[in-house]
Amino acid sequence: MQAPCPKCGQPSDGGLCRSCLLNLMEPLSRPDLVEVTVCSVCGSKLVRGRWQISERSIEEMATDAACESLCIHKDLENPELTVNLSRRGATRYAARIGLRGTFKGLAVEESCEIPVRIKLTACDRCSRMAGKYFEATVQVRGSSTRPLSKGELDTCRNMALSMADSGHRSGDQLSFVQEIKEVKGGLDIVLGSSQLGRQLSRAIQERFGGKLVESSTLAGRKDGRDIYRTTALVRFPRLKKGDIVLFRGGMYTVSGFDGKRTMLLSLSGNRRKVMSDEDAEQVEVLGNRSESQKALVVAVDRDAVEIMDPESYQTAFAPRPQDFEVVPGEEIAVVRTAKGFVVLG
Ligand SMILES: [Zn+2]
Ligand SMILES: [Zn+2]
Repeated sequence: MQAPCPKCGQPSDGGLCRSCLLNLMEPLSRPDLVEVTVCSVCGSKLVRGRWQISERSIEEMATDAACESLCIHKDLENPELTVNLSRRGATRYAARIGLRGTFKGLAVEESCEIPVRIKLTACDRCSRMAGKYFEATVQVRGSSTRPLSKGELDTCRNMALSMADSGHRSGDQLSFVQEIKEVKGGLDIVLGSSQLGRQLSRAIQERFGGKLVESSTLAGRKDGRDIYRTTALVRFPRLKKGDIVLFRGGMYTVSGFDGKRTMLLSLSGNRRKVMSDEDAEQVEVLGNRSESQKALVVAVDRDAVEIMDPESYQTAFAPRPQDFEVVPGEEIAVVRTAKGFVVLG
């Protein structure tokens, strides 16, 4: 049923006509100003009170924020939005917004400009890092008879950096490495959170074995809660992965650690043994798999392999590991030890 529009008198389907409705409708609502808070050190962005790692540039963040601040009328059909950002100052931008669409069959076009302000500050993490904040120290130590190698120190260093990074990526603002100090006998790794300290010390012990001793002291109060500082000492064991040992009449390599226990694998690779802490302190170490050399096999019998010494070119004998199959003319991996050559199965 047709009735005149109460506003303009044109024919209408009841109530206001389409053009009067269109005049009343606001296709686009927007705030007067958009602010984006960005860390000037690491580029993180503050989103609803939480710092988030961002790979976006300041311009991209300003554009995103302008778009996110818009509210497009729900009855607008096929909306199309365009944004053009221009710089107005060191930390000021203007986002020129264009909107097209249709409303009850009528074309709608609207444009506006939104000022965007970038607030540069330091995020929680960067300000704590700058303030030398720390909660945990992981002390990595060898001993006088078992100094740590450069490779082991580098591994611990890299583990700390990558664990801190993944903790940060999963949202822990305190997951950072404050400092890595080379000290007598090892490393002191100073960390932003005690949780990271616990994770790192366990991961190092899992990888290299040895003993882990943790302690904590009350360092003060902050925001009404006690702040503890934890120290985790990881004392590397005498043995390391790949060591070749003589244990209960057989030759084994150290394959890994399970807490205080040392896992062994026979040279031929088919028998496993677990060695106690006490045995690990006393067992005879012949060498390490990492020192292996290639040697040519000259002859083979049931119990021994005759090889050519890769340095002196003299022939030498090595015990043949159980079930080790080899024929003359092949090259095999051997380790030179005080007890002669050892064949790696
Ligand atoms: Zn009307
Ligand atoms: Zn930051």
